[in-house]
Amino acid sequence: MQRTHINQIKEGHTVLVQGWVHSLRGQSKIKFLQLRDITGVVQCISMDQTQFGTFDKLLAESAVSITGLVKKAVVKSDEVTQKNVEIEIQTLEVLNYAEPLPITIAAKDEALTNELSKRLDYRYVDLHRRDTQAIFKIQSTLLEAFREFMITEGATECIFPSIIGASSEGGTELYPVQYFEKTAVLSQSCQLYKQMAACSLEKVFSVFTVWRAEKHNTLRHLNEARQMDFEIAFADDKVAMEVLGRCVQHIVKVIMEKNAADLEVLKTQLVVPTVKYMTFAEVAKLMRQHHVEMGEDDLSGDAEHTLGELFPNTVVFVHDWPLAGKPFYIMPKGKDLSYGYDAIYKGMEICSGGQRIHLPELLIERLKVKGLDPDHFKSYIDSFRYGAPPHAGWGVGVERLTMQILGIKNIREVTLFPRDRDRLTP
Ligand code: ATP
Ligand code: MG
Repeated sequence: MQRTHINQIKEGHTVLVQGWVHSLRGQSKIKFLQLRDITGVVQCISMDQTQFGTFDKLLAESAVSITGLVKKAVVKSDEVTQKNVEIEIQTLEVLNYAEPLPITIAAKDEALTNELSKRLDYRYVDLHRRDTQAIFKIQSTLLEAFREFMITEGATECIFPSIIGASSEGGTELYPVQYFEKTAVLSQSCQLYKQMAACSLEKVFSVFTVWRAEKHNTLRHLNEARQMDFEIAFADDKVAMEVLGRCVQHIVKVIMEKNAADLEVLKTQLVVPTVKYMTFAEVAKLMRQHHVEMGEDDLSGDAEHTLGELFPNTVVFVHDWPLAGKPFYIMPKGKDLSYGYDAIYKGMEICSGGQRIHLPELLIERLKVKGLDPDHFKSYIDSFRYGAPPHAGWGVGVERLTMQILGIKNIREVTLFPRDRDRLTP
């Protein structure tokens, strides 16, 4: 018999269903087993005494294979997603017995009873939880929607190197890697490579893993994170921001369409965001009015938070960013400003971007101002000597965007196997 997923079973059919024991209860004459697979939960019933020995040895989350007749449900429980039917068990095969669980899976107050760090220690068990599964099903849609959006825009997907020469774009601590007789580093971003690609392929994108060896311990930073990167030629900051605004709107819209059931599991309602543009100076003025401390050439956490409160469900682009607060490759705008920007969504930075410098001499000057050695960036600088057009782009954190869309406070929650200051396993 072929396996049927729980959301596909129909009254009157004899089916083979496979999954995990969500919960078990029983009396002397009848046993109830709630079976869960990735599509839902269904009640299974046995009144066959010869099966009771197997039931008595089973613990929650054991993997089982059941055949039985689908009937109209007699008992209705909140936990099941197949409310109208239940399965009268004919055969019950245990595929693998689960040991007593280190964290709770099916309890109603599961979020309260499990510490996140313990859940992450047992992420492979935590992934049995329907709310954890919902997060990663939504993240999968997010990536799919990003890719689909970019391909519709006519962008080319690129794969960039993760091991790079010891020199990099600066501004963050790096992880050294022994590379034969040389020391290399793990990439902190694909910035320089995506620019080189965009200067001929015109529109490029990538989902790229970045490594940052910063010893921070915050709710919004990982030491290994993923970014969705975009770069476009013959374009300035305004063009790149407009693309990002539509891209985030598209991603949220697709999640609302495709993941309605997962959003219900998470008890989360989404709204497609609007887009707003403000200069850095305008934000500074607004923060003064609200008595919020704000950095000179960067937004403070409080300022980001306040923007989220003042403009809920809005992607706020803060542009005309002070030059001093942006990396060397961002195009200056006059003496003190730049064509760089950040996007703030629900009170947190989700993206940095800007128009880049495509002029080798200006690039060398800016590298020196930032205390970096142009000799370390030779091939990057040289790439602009052969007809490189003006170009712009951005990088959005995959985990950042996931947590902000879903309103989840800790970035580790939306990272399948997070790497932070203290965690290298599992
Ligand atoms: P922040 O100011 O929040 O520390 P950043 O300005 O250092 O971030 P960028 O280099 O601008 O980060 O990276 C682009 C995007 O990648 C960020 O807007 C964010 O969404 C994401 N990102 C950057 N660093 C991290 C990190 N350590 N952990 C998770 N996501 C990150
Ligand atoms: Mg940034």
